[in-house]
Amino acid sequence: MDIRRDVKIKSWDGTWDYSPKVLVTPNTVEDLVEIITDKERFPSPVRPAGSMHSTARMNGDEGTMVDMKAMNRIIEIGKETVTVEPGISFQPLALELKKHGLQFHIMTEIGNVTLGAMATAATKDSSFPGELGQISSYVTAMRYVTPKGEIRSINEKDDPHEMFLMRSSYGLLGIVFELTIRVRPTKALWLRHRNVSLQEFRERFPQYKADGCAVMYYIFPYDKRVVVELKKDNPDETPKQEYRWKYRNRFWRKYDPLITRKIEEWAPNQKVRAFLDSVHFGLIRLGLSRLVGGDKTWPHAQIINYPRDPGLNRYIFSMWAFPQEGFFDILDAYCDFLIEYEKKTGYRTNLPSVGYSIAQDRNALFSYCWNGPSLSIDPASTGGKAWEEFLKVYNVFCSEHGGTPLFNQTPFLTHDQVHKAFGEERIAEFKAARQAADPDDRLMDDYFRDLL
Ligand SMILES: Cc1cc2nc3c(=O)[nH]c(=O)nc-3n(C[C@H](O)[C@H](O)[C@H](O)COP(=O)(O)OP(=O)(O)OC[C@H]3O[C@@H](n4cnc5c(N)ncnc54)[C@H](O)[C@@H]3O)c2cc1C
Repeated sequence: MDIRRDVKIKSWDGTWDYSPKVLVTPNTVEDLVEIITDKERFPSPVRPAGSMHSTARMNGDEGTMVDMKAMNRIIEIGKETVTVEPGISFQPLALELKKHGLQFHIMTEIGNVTLGAMATAATKDSSFPGELGQISSYVTAMRYVTPKGEIRSINEKDDPHEMFLMRSSYGLLGIVFELTIRVRPTKALWLRHRNVSLQEFRERFPQYKADGCAVMYYIFPYDKRVVVELKKDNPDETPKQEYRWKYRNRFWRKYDPLITRKIEEWAPNQKVRAFLDSVHFGLIRLGLSRLVGGDKTWPHAQIINYPRDPGLNRYIFSMWAFPQEGFFDILDAYCDFLIEYEKKTGYRTNLPSVGYSIAQDRNALFSYCWNGPSLSIDPASTGGKAWEEFLKVYNVFCSEHGGTPLFNQTPFLTHDQVHKAFGEERIAEFKAARQAADPDDRLMDDYFRDLL
């Protein structure tokens, strides 16, 4: 295995710097056992890392960072499940499944997330009727090395409680080296975008749901408008269309961040900038609602590749989820909050916020949609110091409005916000499980120590 000492490593986009004492890349489960048991060569805490695409600074840099990406084999593709090593990323695996006429139950936008992170950390995408909210709920079995260096194999039939704990364990209960996840036959995807006001979104949401749609949305807070993305399985058609997704993906990943930064650089004052933003985002709304749709799109085509080192034109975000009940009042308040924040500080978020309607999910202890169906509000930006300051204030807003954050996708959380959102009972349950599994804190780092 490759071992490097005292290195500097950055998250995918350079937002976060890490300085682990050891950066190690295992190739086999034996390597992993050695890493966990040899405390001298591999100082604590030992923290597994996937692609490092988490928007929160949570890849642990005090001790040993374990880069899981070399363990990326596909072990078996069955009719209803696929078994893989955890370092494989979502998009290459989805494209392999496509060749076998298969797809995942939840197809996220991001293609870079590793399956290890999907199995153990929070994920999001708009939920289809009857589906669960998070990808880890579709993981049926895991094999991992425990904090004591033992190999454990668990599955949902024989070990439901351990699966429940592992599904949101963030590498704190063991390092996964193999996992099995449910897949389903590929179905064509019906896709539409609707350009609506906040009030129209509120009124039409129940109908979108009644029509059996998965609902995602782009929020334009300064114009108080929303583009709603509606998706439905279309089993009567054979999937054929890819390009409509590709246009959307290119704008999302590249052109929107580029144009918004150019406007920011060029605009001589705030008024001109607001006007140009409004034109830019007005055109985006028009383009999405008029051009991006189809009756038989490929579900795999919605996945976006966000390669490392995107430069300044990057797309980053933070996420909080809110109970469906009362959500539309919070969405109104969110837009007012952003407008007020700009008046006070001069700062405006420079990309459309997004959000997802997510089904209730109690298959993972730290599920952010534990209490019922939820809708999220994810401000997005190209980053920078003012963005980071804004996020801290946004966290206060969300916590006051009863939101739930994601450990991996909500930067700058505080201990109190985490305890309020998840409740003392769930946190105590996790701490007890951790204490039993890892009494020497082999896998526990400062990020989680502070928050829990
Ligand atoms: C531009 C962008 C777009 C995004 N879009 C989406 C989206 O559409 N949907 C979505 O759900 N998320 C999205 N995300 C968030 C991202 O998917 C999550 O933060 C995800 O956890 C990142 O995966 P990763 O492989 O980079 O994991 P990392 O950030 O490296 O790690 C995440 C957690 O997983 C743990 N972990 C990793 N591997 C293992 C293992 N083998 N065993 C045990 N624990 C392990 C780590 O310890 C850590 O706690 C997006 C992020 C970005 C930057």
